[in-house]
Amino acid sequence: MKIVRCPVCLRDPGLSRPDVVVRYPQGPLRIFKCSCGLRFSEYALNGIPPGLYGHSYYDHVRYRDQEGSNAYLAHLADFFNRGLAATTPEGRKLLDVGCATGDFVAWALRAGWEAEGIDISSDAVEIGKRRNLPVTQADLLALPDPLVRYDVITLWDVLEHLPDVQSALLVANKVLRPGGLVFLKTVSSFSLLERMARAIYHLSIGVVDGPLKRFLVPGHLYYFGQKNLETLLANCGFDLLRLENSDTPSRALFRSRVMTAAFDLIYFFQRATRTGYELLAVCRSRQ
Ligand SMILES: [Zn+2]
Repeated sequence: MKIVRCPVCLRDPGLSRPDVVVRYPQGPLRIFKCSCGLRFSEYALNGIPPGLYGHSYYDHVRYRDQEGSNAYLAHLADFFNRGLAATTPEGRKLLDVGCATGDFVAWALRAGWEAEGIDISSDAVEIGKRRNLPVTQADLLALPDPLVRYDVITLWDVLEHLPDVQSALLVANKVLRPGGLVFLKTVSSFSLLERMARAIYHLSIGVVDGPLKRFLVPGHLYYFGQKNLETLLANCGFDLLRLENSDTPSRALFRSRVMTAAFDLIYFFQRATRTGYELLAVCRSRQ
């Protein structure tokens, strides 16, 4: 395992002992915790196993628009509009990084944005192209310097997947127009449900890891808190304008009314204690 610096506090995170170890069929997955509170997966250090983002990866995110509820897209669009109410970008050029099959690009085009999307997954981009959406297979870190810069970059569910999260935000800053905006959503490490799953794990001395595996999935490399997300954005040249703690709408996750009602109740407690599963942020480039 190579020695790295924490992308948030830039200190040596100390890798002698993992915080937790969950067992997947392909092997154990070790999660470490830095003194700044950032949790990260060993895949952030050693690289993502080959094939993780293959064809089957998008099976578990298919709920987003395939079930017909559009609840997830509406959730992102609501936050986007709340962020815009506080600040207006100069132009209408928008780049959705990690666009998957292009749902948000389609929404942004309908809302009058000159929107386009990039994703590293050729499978996802193919689906987007079949929908006649302006989506391209590309890596943010390998983007050529654009002739016209973007007014807005969206990073929905992206930061937690990027091994070099700091470089990605620096590139985002470079392809933005001065004063341009980044809208992002990422997972937090402090939801009430995750804390309960963590307590079960520790009380059982690591034997019962099933509940915690719902939160520590192989594709997620970083688990942020509000403070360390704000520090990371500031280090990469962004001023935070708005930070919300939220949850994925239950209707986007389940079809069963019993399950949606149960999760709505849990979300009520998570909202009341500001321990939601998601962090949503808008920030402005300082360049
Ligand atoms: Zn740190």
